[in-house]
Amino acid sequence: MSRDSKTARRFPRETIQMGDKRVPAAKIECNKCQSVAYHTDTGLNDDVYFKRKGWTVGNGPAADVCGACAGRKPKPDLKVVPMEAAAVKDKPREMTRDERLIIMDKIRDVHDGDRYGSGWSDKKVADDLGVPRAWVEDIRENVLQFAGGHSADMEEYLAMIAPVKTELANMINSARVQLQRLEEMAGKELASITTLGRKVEKEMSR
Ligand SMILES: [Zn+2]
Repeated sequence: MSRDSKTARRFPRETIQMGDKRVPAAKIECNKCQSVAYHTDTGLNDDVYFKRKGWTVGNGPAADVCGACAGRKPKPDLKVVPMEAAAVKDKPREMTRDERLIIMDKIRDVHDGDRYGSGWSDKKVADDLGVPRAWVEDIRENVLQFAGGHSADMEEYLAMIAPVKTELANMINSARVQLQRLEEMAGKELASITTLGRKVEKEMSR
């Protein structure tokens, strides 16, 4: 087998499993995605074999690229964002005048005295309007100046007592129905006692 010494590359050799046999194979590794391919003895030079399989075979391992990566467009350079800049980016931007007015209107609509109406909170208002929660909090505290946003605890508490409230309502309802029946029964009894009493009186007065 003749190897062109200018282009033939020596690849690391590994023993790989082929069916039930372990066979020596040349290994190539993509320097972009680290995928690997093997060439067992096919009679071809390793680089020829890998090229046929779509690899770009470089002059050294650092320049080997698999077919998938060679076909991909190069990734745009990721800009390195300094930590401080990244932190600033996470903060919500300043709200516009219109946004401020919309949030104020919304809070006025859903607040109840010095706190949010039932089911409303900074989070709910923020979700409803699609604005950062910090904006809502800011306006509620600093502009409208009421403290009682339903806290997460409060919401959890309300959710927890909801079934209890329903059950109580059911109990009261059922008690009312029973009371009504009792009254009806008592009414009938009273009526028959009264009738009986009159009969007895009649009998006695004879
Ligand atoms: Zn690759």
